[in-house]
Amino acid sequence: MEEALARTVQARFAVAFSNGTAALHAAMAAADLGPGDTVVTSPLSFLASANCARYVGAVPSFVDIDPATLNLDLSKVPRGASAVVAVHYAGLPADLSRLGERPRVVVEDAAHALGASTPDGPVGNCARSDMCTFSFHPVKVVTTGEGGAVTTNDADLAERLRRFRNHGIVQHPERDPWFYDVEGVGFNYRMTDIQAALGGSQLGRLGYFIARRSQLAARYRQALASLPLTLPPEAPADWSHAYHLFPVQVDDRRRVFDGLRSAGIRCQVHYVPIYRHSSFAGLGARPSDFTATEEAYERLLSLPLYPDLAESDQDRVIDALTKLL
Ligand SMILES: *Cc1c(COP(=O)(O)O)cnc(C)c1O
Repeated sequence: MEEALARTVQARFAVAFSNGTAALHAAMAAADLGPGDTVVTSPLSFLASANCARYVGAVPSFVDIDPATLNLDLSKVPRGASAVVAVHYAGLPADLSRLGERPRVVVEDAAHALGASTPDGPVGNCARSDMCTFSFHPVKVVTTGEGGAVTTNDADLAERLRRFRNHGIVQHPERDPWFYDVEGVGFNYRMTDIQAALGGSQLGRLGYFIARRSQLAARYRQALASLPLTLPPEAPADWSHAYHLFPVQVDDRRRVFDGLRSAGIRCQVHYVPIYRHSSFAGLGARPSDFTATEEAYERLLSLPLYPDLAESDQDRVIDALTKLL
């Protein structure tokens, strides 16, 4: 699976992990981030994008999103930040060329964006980053049951990632054939062979998965165009979107959410802004500092989107939404 992933995203190295959160943790550790470091990420993400900083003793910090893309506004990453975790929200790549002064470490959280691309190439080729992390959780574009990976073009980082996922063990056969040393703390974050075999076969279908998701997304766009809602940001002309999510924005979201749910339609809200979780209260981030994130959060509603979604079922979603609005 590692070779297939590296080939797919055109990176030199891919290192597989037991899940995407382990991949983020390993990326933080491999980059030597720790106490005293600040790691900036998007508040509109799954909380693992920020928790990874805490795992290594660094401090997560947030900048507001750009309402035009729903991605973190990379031009706002403050000087002095040690690292940025750029999340490609919903599968639309964050524009890394907007980073002002480059922090020491640039990591992409591409849990939503396997199969997406920019003029720099496929997401995961690390054209403008040190490492790019993926998740293969069942809801993601490609799944291994549970799983994750980090891609990089840096041989030293790749070695550190491999060591970190395997207890920090370094073999020293030149000393004794059985001898191994442990120079730092590592974990058991290995992906199993069974997961990897599933991932290899899933990667072979990535083109189909993205094509199908894009087709369903285009159908939603057309059918919902005249309704009073905001459609998800589109990918610019020579970019491609992975459409992990199809998040629309509606007024009176609670009523629409309840209406869809009672029609048996599984909609969801992605995400509660990370700073709103009580576990992050100590960071002192106030909702009023994140106007664009708060405005989006008020109205966001993800509609069902997955390759096996039948068009007749999609029509049921469209009809229900049309009635509600
Ligand atoms: C799913 C997800 C993760 C975590 O991946 P797991 O494989 O569930 O650990 C991290 N970041 C984002 C943005 C995600 O959506």
